[in-house]
Amino acid sequence: QDTGKYKGMIEDCCCDYESVDSVNGEVLNPLLQELVKTPFFRYFKVKLWCDCPFWPDDGMCRLRDCSVCECPENEFPEPFKKPFHRGLPADDLVCQEGKPQAAVDRTLDSRAFRGWIVTDNPWTNDDETDNGELTYVNLLLNPERYTGYAGPSARRIWDAVYSENCPKYASGEICQEKKVLYKLISGLHSSISIHIAADYLLDESTNKWGQNRELMYDRVLRYPDRVRNLYFTFLFVLRAMTKAADYLEQAEYDTGNNTEDLKTQSLVRQLLYNPKLQAACPLPFDEAKLWQGQSGPELKQQIQKQFRNISALMDCVSCEKCRLWGKLQVLGLGTALKILFSVDGQNQPSESPQLQRNEVIALVNLLNRLSESVKYVSEQGPSIEKIMSKQ
Ligand code: FAD
Repeated sequence: QDTGKYKGMIEDCCCDYESVDSVNGEVLNPLLQELVKTPFFRYFKVKLWCDCPFWPDDGMCRLRDCSVCECPENEFPEPFKKPFHRGLPADDLVCQEGKPQAAVDRTLDSRAFRGWIVTDNPWTNDDETDNGELTYVNLLLNPERYTGYAGPSARRIWDAVYSENCPKYASGEICQEKKVLYKLISGLHSSISIHIAADYLLDESTNKWGQNRELMYDRVLRYPDRVRNLYFTFLFVLRAMTKAADYLEQAEYDTGNNTEDLKTQSLVRQLLYNPKLQAACPLPFDEAKLWQGQSGPELKQQIQKQFRNISALMDCVSCEKCRLWGKLQVLGLGTALKILFSVDGQNQPSESPQLQRNEVIALVNLLNRLSESVKYVSEQGPSIEKIMSKQ
């Protein structure tokens, strides 16, 4: 298989392009594709009607297709309706002596899962405890694809995300940590553009959908840094999943359907303890290299604040389906950041991540979206580039 020009080690990661392409194509992508179809992972809880804290909504959506179809009460799993544990009991908070506040520990407590929690994610802006306005959405019925959302409304969101929160770094001028935030957002942006191009409305009069090669080339493939950032983001999120492997393996995937739930558990296990993944890419990203300097704790707080702003900006996306996937993927990234750099707001390193059910649903669906994009670039990228460069 020709992987085009992307060869060698992925910048700031611990694996090479060829190994990532092959393990993703062979094992990760097929497992993730099955996992996101299970009843546990296909329902996402979201507040769709939210006020944009920055600009009034100017409704730029063109297609009817961009509204989201919500689930009726009787459709989503019964256990999802039960109340959660509210945070952790006090004696569960174990003091970790001798650990510098900001240093990152690669290990996690192996007796990890203690029930789903509802404590807000410090990296994101959403109030998960505000159940009143939350609805469940069946993600399989609302695929991420072209919606016609474009123009000044979409542009100012991306502009705000980049210029206010993670300005593009000039080499040597910015610390490693800020570079990570920029690359995560750019990688997510590449992935969103790839999904738009891969599932595009080619002819409105006949309602013909298909791949838009020009768009894929113009928005992503012709910019090597955008492709590199996509791989980086994929490995970052994959690392968060493997770091939390014990927690995720023990977690309850209860939807009231025993057969399906056992299948979900088994797929999670196959994904996280995969011998092919261990061989190809044992440490997808090394988070222990970050926050080493004296300003580590401050920097972490600052980046957390910037990421929260990005999360708040998702409420200004006026196309509903784009907002759904924007919120899901930003929550997924916030969950990956929480797992890798556990900061609980008071700057206490915690023993293991205590996660919300919705955070895990977002994390897995984000990883699947990124895995799809990486597969697209590795399998179709070279031939699209060849065709486009001849035109
Ligand atoms: P945009 O994608 O809007 O990019 C704006 C500018 O950002 C570019 O000119 C470039 O300078 C820079 N840029 C672009 N890509 C990268 C990158 N990877 N890294 C760094 N810089 C980059 N539309 C849909 O049809 N379906 C969706 O599901 C959808 N979801 C969206 C979710 C969010 C959160 C947002 C903000 C927008 C979404 N959109 C969606 C709109 C879509 O992303 C584009 O904004 C739109 O298609 C217009 O594209 P554009 O060519 O103007 O460039």
